[in-house]
Amino acid sequence: MVVLLQVPRFHASVFLTKPASLCKTHFNLLLKPKIPITIKSTLSTASGPTQNLDIPVEETHVELSLEKLFVPPETDVPSAGATSSLTARILKGSNIVLAKYARDAQIAQAEFVKSSVRTEDCPSDGLPEFALVGRSNVGKSSLLNSLVRRKRLALTSKKPGKTQCINHFRINDSWYLVDLPGYGYAAAPQELRIDWEKFTKDYFLNRPTLVSVFLLIDASIPARKIDLEYASWLGVNQIPMTLIFTKCDKRKKRKNGGKRPEENVNDFQELIQGFFQTAPPWIMTSSVTNQGRDEILLHMAQLRNYWLKH
Ligand code: GDP
Repeated sequence: MVVLLQVPRFHASVFLTKPASLCKTHFNLLLKPKIPITIKSTLSTASGPTQNLDIPVEETHVELSLEKLFVPPETDVPSAGATSSLTARILKGSNIVLAKYARDAQIAQAEFVKSSVRTEDCPSDGLPEFALVGRSNVGKSSLLNSLVRRKRLALTSKKPGKTQCINHFRINDSWYLVDLPGYGYAAAPQELRIDWEKFTKDYFLNRPTLVSVFLLIDASIPARKIDLEYASWLGVNQIPMTLIFTKCDKRKKRKNGGKRPEENVNDFQELIQGFFQTAPPWIMTSSVTNQGRDEILLHMAQLRNYWLKH
């Protein structure tokens, strides 16, 4: 039985860009089996799409119900009682099931291409892209540098005149990472904030090659209102979204009242639940330990390859 549990925004993107493919895909959004599962190893080992990545298999025990998983399209969902084949393919520190499109994940080459002020000025070669966005100081530049394994590539976006632009980086000559301006910078003048809202939202709504927005959330602190508003806007507008929780290496002492990253991650998801029909994909990361780096790349690869195929 092939059942597809999917985030509706991902469909929206596919439909938006390639309407003809609508009839070729079969999504069952209504089916939400509630099977509590325990994730033991979080990544398949030997063969298949992950073989070009050197990721240790760890025994992390996380309770996730099947309905909270992100199951990519065209993935076989086993019947109740036979979920182990699915759980063995969940990417470490995430709710994402690794599926057949996760290939060519590693980044061999990255180059800055251009800064644009308007969506119409963005590259027009039709390559798929992923946009990184988040509150100032969330760790966006650090994550971008960690993904491409270059210490200073993201500095390009921090140069004067570029911080408020849509910055395109071409990866392996075949897709783009897009660095968007950080939001919520307290010192930014009001006019700049309104302008920012206008052009990033225009980009989200009108960029046909946008495969998914990667919304960065600081997992070392409790959820902020502005982040919740942002997630809700993306949900309401059906923009495909992946949550990237940053700074997961930072552990607050419980006795000081601080919550652990895992708890903040759970809280955030509960708070945004109402904005989404199905659980959005999420990954825990750290640019200090490189946690989540390969998982993000595998997730991007499967979204991208699926998008290209349809
Ligand atoms: P941006 O403003 O979103 O581009 O954020 P930066 O990448 O410049 O990071 C902001 C601050 O957070 C810097 O002091 C970074 O060293 C720190 N930082 C970024 N990522 C991490 C992380 O994963 N773990 C920890 N502990 N600190 C981080």
